[in-house]
Amino acid sequence: MTEATVHHRICPLCEACCGLEIKVADNKVIAIRGHDEDVFSAGYICPKGVALKDLHEDPDRLRTPLVKRDGQFVEATWDEAFAEIERRLPPLIAAHGRDAVAMTLGNPAAHKFGLLLYGPQLMKALGTKNIFSASTLDQMPKHVSCGFMFGNMLSIPVPDIVRSDYLLMLGANPMASNGSLWTVPDFRGKAKALRARGGKLVVIDPRRTETAALADEHHFIRPGADVFLLLGMVHTLFDEGLVRLGRLGPFVAGVDAVQSAVQAFSPETVAKRCGIAAADIRRLARDLAGAQRAAVYGRIGTCTQEYGTLASWLVDVLNVLTGRLDEPGGAMFPKAAAFAANTAGTPGSGRGVATGRHKSRVSGAPEVFGELPMTCLAEEIETPGAGQVRALITVASNPVLSSPNGPRLAAALDQLDFMVSMDIYVNETSRHANVILPAPSPLEDVHYDIAFPQMSWRNHARFSDAVFALPEGQLPEWVTLLKLAAIVRGQGAQADAVQIDDEHFAREAGKHFGEHAARAIEATSHLKGPRRMLDMALRIGPHGDQFGRKPEGLNLAKVQAAQGGIDLGELTPRVPEMLRTPSGKIELAPATFLADLSRPARDLANAAPPMVIIGRRDVRSNNSWMHNLPLLAKGPERCTALVHPDDAKRLGLRDGAMAHISNANGRIEARVQVSADMMPGVVSLPHGWGHNLPGARLSVAAERPGANLNDLLDEDRRDPLSGNAVLGGVAVELLPA
Ligand code: SF4
Repeated sequence: MTEATVHHRICPLCEACCGLEIKVADNKVIAIRGHDEDVFSAGYICPKGVALKDLHEDPDRLRTPLVKRDGQFVEATWDEAFAEIERRLPPLIAAHGRDAVAMTLGNPAAHKFGLLLYGPQLMKALGTKNIFSASTLDQMPKHVSCGFMFGNMLSIPVPDIVRSDYLLMLGANPMASNGSLWTVPDFRGKAKALRARGGKLVVIDPRRTETAALADEHHFIRPGADVFLLLGMVHTLFDEGLVRLGRLGPFVAGVDAVQSAVQAFSPETVAKRCGIAAADIRRLARDLAGAQRAAVYGRIGTCTQEYGTLASWLVDVLNVLTGRLDEPGGAMFPKAAAFAANTAGTPGSGRGVATGRHKSRVSGAPEVFGELPMTCLAEEIETPGAGQVRALITVASNPVLSSPNGPRLAAALDQLDFMVSMDIYVNETSRHANVILPAPSPLEDVHYDIAFPQMSWRNHARFSDAVFALPEGQLPEWVTLLKLAAIVRGQGAQADAVQIDDEHFAREAGKHFGEHAARAIEATSHLKGPRRMLDMALRIGPHGDQFGRKPEGLNLAKVQAAQGGIDLGELTPRVPEMLRTPSGKIELAPATFLADLSRPARDLANAAPPMVIIGRRDVRSNNSWMHNLPLLAKGPERCTALVHPDDAKRLGLRDGAMAHISNANGRIEARVQVSADMMPGVVSLPHGWGHNLPGARLSVAAERPGANLNDLLDEDRRDPLSGNAVLGGVAVELLPA
């Protein structure tokens, strides 16, 4: 064995973005551990990070393009694959128009430097309205609420956990996730430190999660009823004179409108609907208001429900009304070193956001953040007429498993005239493709997080070089995307991606530097592709060297040279400078949100169904695509149905035996795990399973396929303001199998 070399790489598998130390010898990974000197994660790692070795070596991972011939995938060269796309896609667009092609983006796309920076170029070339992503499956409500309140959809405040004394969490399990829309590696360590300094952690969740087990206080809540608890708490703040805007007072609009809007939602009125006693709701509001430094954080459970946008909005209404927004120890806005819209343009105001600029053709669902709800994709393919989707490009996405009613979508994909997948696997979705274009392994790719520094517990800048050279013939994703864009534009598959990129960069430089563009182009001429974009973004960013005007500032060379990254300090108050609303204020009472309160008002008296289902997160899993890695797949079965002992007894269910879970949408079978951690009347099953579909090539996952929760979900149920799917709180029946 040759002497081992050590490489440092940001883990791209989840939002925690941990720094890893990877030992390599003889061109093989021999060890992965947390990088102790990483300025952001300080050595933390979870089992998924170690499993990057399995992902890199996975024999099922695609290394060459596949083209379907006579119904079977055959290996092809890149030229053959692009030729097939060029033969079929442009004529289809010419015959049926741009909206005939749809595109989906999956969760891993948010973790790929090249995909995030160059995906928009393919979207622009396509010019289709039919863009869909995983965001409308789990997080769009938070984008919408923050967009309307603060003026940009990525201006999402995060708890300043290291200085907080009181943290109230709803529908979040960062013990398993290490944060979501909140990048916080080693949440456990930080939560323990909060408690050790006398702080309090309070968790609201229909399951006593791993996070709830660590908390000082946990309350069960009826799934999907967070909006009622939050309205009751906001009502209490006004009712008991606890509103304190503090420093933010001059920058907040709409306080009176919120006060009027919540009048119908006293704790006594909402208690039964949310399942938390009125006295507890009042005490939670008082504790929040009385704590020295406090923050409220809501995550996936608050988003994947009928009232996702309202719940997400009310989380930050609480932060504002208690004077905790933008204060140390409260909910704060990170200042990313690059790519953040809330550090660009005029500080303090902007155009704000708009939704509904177009609508989906069949259901009339409004566009949000440039995309349509993922749950509309199947009907857009199935329904004939002008604008019908006839071709699809999927990018790192597996909606057949991750979206409600996967069987309907799978059948719809078979009706397409043409489908291209950029994917590392033949999975439950890409098996339907005509052409699959593989991506490099993460260890063969450079990396810089574009989105997550905007939601990080501490400001930082970190860059990772590739651990291994790109295999001969493998294209980086940014080149694949530019080639697809060139095909769509009619430039042909043989177009020179590097030249296209040069032209694009020149346009970008012109936008940012005007008459000084030539100097910026020259200063970055030693770089290509995403590295060049990053260098420019760092240099013009809030910590940048401004192309020499601030010599002590950042550029790519400096960030790249700093093994473990560059620490940019604790979060600091940013209001009003970060606001991009037209008024230059925090819009506490957007009119559409107030109007939408009529829905929970009508729903107040509704009784809970006897049994509802929710999902859950496991530290060894992340959506559908990590079930093929032996290190993560081994151990106890994870796709189990957690049921409260009283429910198990009532329904005749035995621990370890199989149960049928069904409703009008479908029926699945899962192993029962009896657990007092569940709220009575609620069953929990993790999502992203169901690896038993023909044609997928996930040999490890297929050994223990699990059941697909999404088969039970109704694709027509969405939060109307964000288009987000309803994934939790859906009525089901349970019977012994
Ligand atoms: S928590 Fe695990 S999967 Fe997530 S970034 Fe860290 S090591 Fe990777």
